[in-house]
Amino acid sequence: MFSKLKSNPCIITCAIAGTTSRRLNPNVPITPQEQARAIEEAFHAGARVAHVHPREDDGSESHRPERYQEVLYEIKSRCPEIIVEISTRATSIEDGIDRGSCVELTPQLWGNDDSLKPDLVSLNTGTLNLRGRIFLNSPLDIELQARRIYNAGIIPELDVFEIGQMENAFDLVRQGVLRKPLNFLFVLGSGGISADPANLLHFVRSLPPGTHWTGLGAGRYNFPIASLAIHLGGHVRTGLEDTTYIRKGIKAKSNGQLVEQMANLCEIYGRSIATPQQARELLGLSSQTVSNLNLAYAELSN
Ligand code: ZN
Repeated sequence: MFSKLKSNPCIITCAIAGTTSRRLNPNVPITPQEQARAIEEAFHAGARVAHVHPREDDGSESHRPERYQEVLYEIKSRCPEIIVEISTRATSIEDGIDRGSCVELTPQLWGNDDSLKPDLVSLNTGTLNLRGRIFLNSPLDIELQARRIYNAGIIPELDVFEIGQMENAFDLVRQGVLRKPLNFLFVLGSGGISADPANLLHFVRSLPPGTHWTGLGAGRYNFPIASLAIHLGGHVRTGLEDTTYIRKGIKAKSNGQLVEQMANLCEIYGRSIATPQQARELLGLSSQTVSNLNLAYAELSN
């Protein structure tokens, strides 16, 4: 099973910023222009998906639709070929329950302009205790968010931090809420399941055939888990959201540098990197050809 999967080209996702503070790495891109430039550089280094958390100028996470629009506009103007994934639920609940700070997925986020619409949206499929905080995702919220994502013509990436969250996703498939092919992100070493290689193997062995998955190790586990994911036929993710170091004791100079190192790993393991078109086909976004995207966004770039 693994050898067959390994023939798939590898999709590198770059999570350019998350909520990472510049105190941890001064190269975290904050403004829409900085984020778009970082994505362009990451794309040229081999990234095919950009995972984006819009930030305000002071570095805080943005919850304003206008800011989402600005960021999407800058990305699509600079780098029309990259697959754009937004996060809408990065806000955790620290003191009590604060749902108001999550961004609602509405066409307002892309200014009712479909040429700016993101391709993917992260969907967490369970509640999680993470570094002393609660990420609350009730079954009803997950279902509603999944329906909103499909209704908007977007595909969910299923973010899983614990094995039971994968079962939650399978339940939603049985209920007809989630549609195949599924696209999982397995997050290890970030406060949910640990970055033990056996844990990644267990995730992968539990998948139905034809499921796409990305292996993500947080922090110092980023490249070790990526190596295993590349070897097992999965996809990989890096970026300043996930790790601020390029190697032990050395801070990453940019997202592009992290992606370049990931691309080198693919080469070492004999995995080809997906072309922009292959990445779209693999993730079920093939109705938009890259040449059409270039045409559609040519106007924006001018
Ligand atoms: Zn994120």
